[in-house]
Amino acid sequence: MKVRVDADRCQGHTLCAMIAPDMFELSEVDGSSSAIAEVVPTDQEARVREAAQSCPEQAIILEEVAGDSAPQPDREQTMQ
Ligand code: SF4
Repeated sequence: MKVRVDADRCQGHTLCAMIAPDMFELSEVDGSSSAIAEVVPTDQEARVREAAQSCPEQAIILEEVAGDSAPQPDREQTMQ
């Protein structure tokens, strides 16, 4: 899973950094948030999802990486 913060939406509420302090850092200039790492470590995914759901501005954008939980392709039936 990948994460980024939409700088145009972020209003610096700090909720994300409180929920997932290892994944978000706040600017000392304007208090806006940014992701510390684009790729979310597995053990941080739950916190990052919670932060995204808690962001009042919906500024936290998650991207599921192909292969994370890709469904198994159906096998072709060749029985006759
Ligand atoms: S919770 Fe949302 S608006 Fe607040 S600092 Fe984090 S990304 Fe920005």
